[in-house]
Amino acid sequence: MESINKFNFCPECGSKNIITKEGTHWVCPDCGYDLYNNDAAAVGILLVVNGKLLVFSRTKDPQKGMLGLPGGFVNKGESLEEACIRECNEEIGITPPPFEYLCSFPNTYPFKTLVYSTCDAFFYSEYKGTEEELLSSIKTVDGEAENCKLVPLATFDTSQIAFDSMRKAVKILRNKLNI
Ligand SMILES: [Zn+2]
Repeated sequence: MESINKFNFCPECGSKNIITKEGTHWVCPDCGYDLYNNDAAAVGILLVVNGKLLVFSRTKDPQKGMLGLPGGFVNKGESLEEACIRECNEEIGITPPPFEYLCSFPNTYPFKTLVYSTCDAFFYSEYKGTEEELLSSIKTVDGEAENCKLVPLATFDTSQIAFDSMRKAVKILRNKLNI
């Protein structure tokens, strides 16, 4: 889905002549306002223990009820790695074990009346404890996730995953781990 964000008025001078270019660039011929809204950086973590992937049910739109991974938008001034650690703490109440870069894919994130284009960077982390230890340490802190569970990475149905970028990342991880 292409971004369809547009302004009816120039945010600077209020002119109705503002031109939307490709949904990511707006130019006002009257005052010279020239705004780019390039892709936002976002992260996701594939946390694996004993061949199983940690997923949860999303409690909010977009894709409410679908399976999500810990992650989210990168804040201003933050690195991708810092965003991973912060989001894991916010969403599932744990600091992730050491993780490594896996892959990235573009994504679209419809939110209220806007569509955000993102570049999602995915990281892979292997939890060294047991499944029970991981699940018992999880606390869904900020209410964006519920029903955290472990699904067999090799065989679970990826059509339940919320976003296409996440589905592709799971495929990359399956290939990387030869499963
Ligand atoms: Zn203007």
